[in-house]
Amino acid sequence: MRISDYPFTEAAAKEVREAGYSLESLLGKTIFRGVRSRAAQRVSDAMSGTITETATNTQAEQLAELLSYPLARIMVSCLDDSILLRRYALAEAKLAFRMMQKEKEGLDAIANDLGLHPQGPGPYKIHFSEYIRAAHRMHSPKWKLTNRDLMQGYLTITREELMRIMEEAAREKIMKGLPIPADEETCASLQEYLQPLKEQLERIRARDRVDLGAVNEGAFPPCIKSMLKSVAKGNNLAHSARFALVSFLLQINMTAEEVISLFSTSPDYDEERTRYQVEHIAGASGTSYKPPACATMATYGNCPGEDELCRKIRHPLSYYERRMRIFKPLSPERQP
Ligand code: SF4
Repeated sequence: MRISDYPFTEAAAKEVREAGYSLESLLGKTIFRGVRSRAAQRVSDAMSGTITETATNTQAEQLAELLSYPLARIMVSCLDDSILLRRYALAEAKLAFRMMQKEKEGLDAIANDLGLHPQGPGPYKIHFSEYIRAAHRMHSPKWKLTNRDLMQGYLTITREELMRIMEEAAREKIMKGLPIPADEETCASLQEYLQPLKEQLERIRARDRVDLGAVNEGAFPPCIKSMLKSVAKGNNLAHSARFALVSFLLQINMTAEEVISLFSTSPDYDEERTRYQVEHIAGASGTSYKPPACATMATYGNCPGEDELCRKIRHPLSYYERRMRIFKPLSPERQP
């Protein structure tokens, strides 16, 4: 097992400290140019979902790989985009997962670093409290505690499942402490790397966005209007309705912050959970989700009934776009 493959561990942090390089030298010295480029590559790759592996055969390569991680955390913090932070943490965790799959031994040490104490060598026994802590965000039914065999407080998991849980625990550990409070001077010294990353981020945002101009509630379809009314009254929406509302609002240029604040009047408002859901739909997991079509809305009971325009469209976004044309004629290049 190479520590440089798991740069988020305490052992890795200790090795970086013991290397004794100052932040100034990492940010400025020519000898660390390769480390800065690797750090920028980690962030750039994370934007598209997969961080590429790099050669770490020599001690110098392993140290460079280790040093690139704290620098990448500074860079992703300088970019100040909450969705990118989540994408980055997820991509680093997925890289670690791919490394774990190659490990013949040493998984225990990484698991222990992540607060997990599986009793192996596999299938593993893990205490339910650790399992719940690590697996609480995994939604597929197979992870539900009720669907697992519990014997004297322990569950049995396969090696693959253990690595999957470790990936999730790693994602949470990597997300902790982000964004790092990087000062302007530090971000300025990394401008050469941050500028192309900013442009890449803007391209991704532009690709995911439908430019319909400023948000206009008057043009919302009946389904969205009724959901907003319900939220404003403090009612909790069903999961499918919440997904439809959030994905619709994000798709028409509302920011994640604006959407999150809409739910702050809900009786059981949980900011952290709401933020996780909204940013997940916005693309924190590498995929940004589109709102469901009318047929799906109707299937889930989220269509309050059609009005005249509803009968001419099949998607709430088309409804909004058509209404917006009435409010503001589209620019020549957007004319159908
Ligand atoms: S028909 Fe479509 S746009 Fe109209 S209310 Fe139903 S789901 Fe919304």
